[in-house]
Amino acid sequence: AKALGRGRHHFFDVSLRERMQRRLRMEQDLRDAVHDGQLWPAYQPVVDLRTGEMVAVEALLRWTHPRHGAISPAEFIPLAEESDLINVIGKEMLRATTRELAERRRQGLDLTLKVNLSTRQLDDPHLVPAVQDALANTGLAPSALCLEVTESALMRDQEAAAEVLASLRALGVLLAIDDFGTGYSSLAQLRRLTLDTLKIDRSFITGIAESRDAAAIVTSIIAMAHAVGLTVIAEGVESAEQVELLRSLGCDQAQGYHLGRPVPAAELFGQ
Ligand code: C2E
Ligand code: CA
Ligand code: CA
Ligand code: CA
Repeated sequence: AKALGRGRHHFFDVSLRERMQRRLRMEQDLRDAVHDGQLWPAYQPVVDLRTGEMVAVEALLRWTHPRHGAISPAEFIPLAEESDLINVIGKEMLRATTRELAERRRQGLDLTLKVNLSTRQLDDPHLVPAVQDALANTGLAPSALCLEVTESALMRDQEAAAEVLASLRALGVLLAIDDFGTGYSSLAQLRRLTLDTLKIDRSFITGIAESRDAAAIVTSIIAMAHAVGLTVIAEGVESAEQVELLRSLGCDQAQGYHLGRPVPAAELFGQ
């Protein structure tokens, strides 16, 4: 029994050490990735449910590692958030995507750009000037940029978040609450934040065609959002049935694999 206990303890130590080593390695790899240009934006279409037209694109960060291939943002963004790396990466993402969209708009594509901001970026005093610079340097109209902040990031420090959002809004950019429904924000809080768009989290969309309850929840989120003047986007739409249902419920826009996966700019817009 004693040997077994020691064995287990030993096993735990090894796996913990391995996990930490893996993390350190990944963090160093991520630093290299920033310098070597291994990070790039994919773009996913956002479709207007009344016209069926693409009205916006969401920029989603991609990491193509020279040896390990594609690494998921769900894995490396939390890591980047533990250091200042997320601020460096976030600013580069803003620079690259505003440049791309400004160029596409000059070519005649009437699209809004959606860019994700992490909690930690909201705390960065250089964020607002960085957004301002990106707009000034590319000539992208402020109203063509929508910044997405998750519900949980907004609720973490409401006072601070409200202040940053007000400064961003003063630049003329649009603001969206992302992953809505996964946090616990109230109608009053939403009103005070003066947002433009609400994105219903994919977990609520998944079951809408099969479950009355899921559809009822989505119906009430749409009604509530419209009552305070927000545009509603459904995330994670994977079937034609869901598209039809969301349209009939009065949802404004939708995004998901059924409507288009995140792809490189050239694939979505042409060369
Ligand atoms: P998010 O902002 O909620 O982005 C939507 C995620 O859902 C994306 O995952 C997208 O690829 C995925 N998705 C879109 N349609 C469907 C669908 O129909 N079905 C399913 N199952 N998934 C769908 P992705 O690209 O892996 O990004 C994950 C998260 O990483 C994002 O969630 C966002 O929170 C974060 N992220 C991505 N890019 C950035 C970035 O540039 N900056 C920051 N701060 N966070 C980012
Ligand atoms: Ca998002
Ligand atoms: Ca989301
Ligand atoms: Ca999400």
